[in-house]
Amino acid sequence: MSKPLVVQKYGGTSMGSVERIQHVARRVKQTADAGNRVVVVVSAMSGETDRLLGLCQAISSNSHPREADQVVATGEQVSIGLLAMALRDLGQNAVSLLGSQVAIRTDRAHTKARIQAIEGDRIFRELDAGRVVVVAGFQGIDDDGNVTTLGRGGSDTTGVALAAALKADVCEIYTDVTGVFTTDPNMVPKARKLARVSYEEMLEMASLGAKVLALRSVEFGAKYSVKIHVRSTFSEEEGTVVCQEDEEMENVVVSGITYNKNESKIAVRGVPDQPGVAARLLSPLAEANIVVDMIVQNLSAQGHTDFTFTVPKSDTNAALEIVERLAKELGATGVECDRGIAKVSIVGVGMRSHAGVASKMFQTLAAENINIQMISTSEIKVSVVIDEKYVELAVRVLHSAFGLDAPDA
Ligand code: ADP
Ligand code: ASP
Ligand code: MG
Repeated sequence: MSKPLVVQKYGGTSMGSVERIQHVARRVKQTADAGNRVVVVVSAMSGETDRLLGLCQAISSNSHPREADQVVATGEQVSIGLLAMALRDLGQNAVSLLGSQVAIRTDRAHTKARIQAIEGDRIFRELDAGRVVVVAGFQGIDDDGNVTTLGRGGSDTTGVALAAALKADVCEIYTDVTGVFTTDPNMVPKARKLARVSYEEMLEMASLGAKVLALRSVEFGAKYSVKIHVRSTFSEEEGTVVCQEDEEMENVVVSGITYNKNESKIAVRGVPDQPGVAARLLSPLAEANIVVDMIVQNLSAQGHTDFTFTVPKSDTNAALEIVERLAKELGATGVECDRGIAKVSIVGVGMRSHAGVASKMFQTLAAENINIQMISTSEIKVSVVIDEKYVELAVRVLHSAFGLDAPDA
């Protein structure tokens, strides 16, 4: 029997200083000393990716996705080298590998590439030689050898995808909170840590803004049944396990509340109400790799309708350029854009079997005079778009209304 294989991922805060990297090295060594083979995935030191993106913006107001990837991928290169040095100084043999050296193969979508395949040979050779393997998160390589990055938070995806590819026993995500909470604990002090959360709920929570796990990492986890354990770098406390749903989970109606301030709302006014209009507006956005989220089309009046949707804030200008051109072609009366919105969502597998959840949400918000601009629902979530300035209030009152507040806080 070979030794258990553990993939550990450490985020930016965990790698934020020399002392913290040395602390991470001690934790990694402990895991290795306990008889495990260890693959470590690390992020850039905290603030570094933002700093590098800032440099790109300072040098050019144009987007140069390929070159931006060359620049931002360096953050993780620094981290892997430093951690491998710290491990060696502790007497733990270690080697650092870039995405290209592994190799982590992706598509060509610079700045938001998707992992397509991971080669395990090099990693297994290093593990067999008794080394801890330190892999750069967030980056990969396309078929032409170009460096790609996976989108913000992408080191989580590297971690879970590696765990799947290597058939690791567990993927531990080490971060600056002790697990997945009922809502962002940094916004709501009464948030409660969840001992377990289903892949499906975690998928919704991640896609709706809970940045503790990147969405694609949860997709990999669900697809390949990777056991994901989210926990703190700074304590020994058990964290949250992301796993298959069970009956106990279904008894909880709402298990989490999320918010997302990273979208803008675009409204196309006075569009002729004809077949094919939605496709004509949205297909060019999809072709430009812009992900459209909530979509609302009003009831038609005098043959015209309004078409409203949300896009990531970072894609707003690109989306507006496309939409304004199409609006003219379609004979729409105008295009409006609101960057000051937030989406607040309630998530829970128990919603499948409980009625009245959405209306309770709307009543709770109404009682605080918070106006709802858009609504969307699925089997296990309800989302609303509201004015950004009410987001904290909305999350707090919903957290209380659905009985999620920690008893002692
Ligand atoms: P890392 O750098 O380790 O990847 P992130 O900053 O990406 O860490 O993610 C951790 C952060 O996610 C926490 O500090 C917390 O503010 C935020 N967060 C948002 N929603 C949740 C949630 N439901 N549970 C835990 N953390 C959350
Ligand atoms: N360093 C990258 C980011 O800041 C990836 C990550 O931290 O997961 O988004
Ligand atoms: Mg993260």
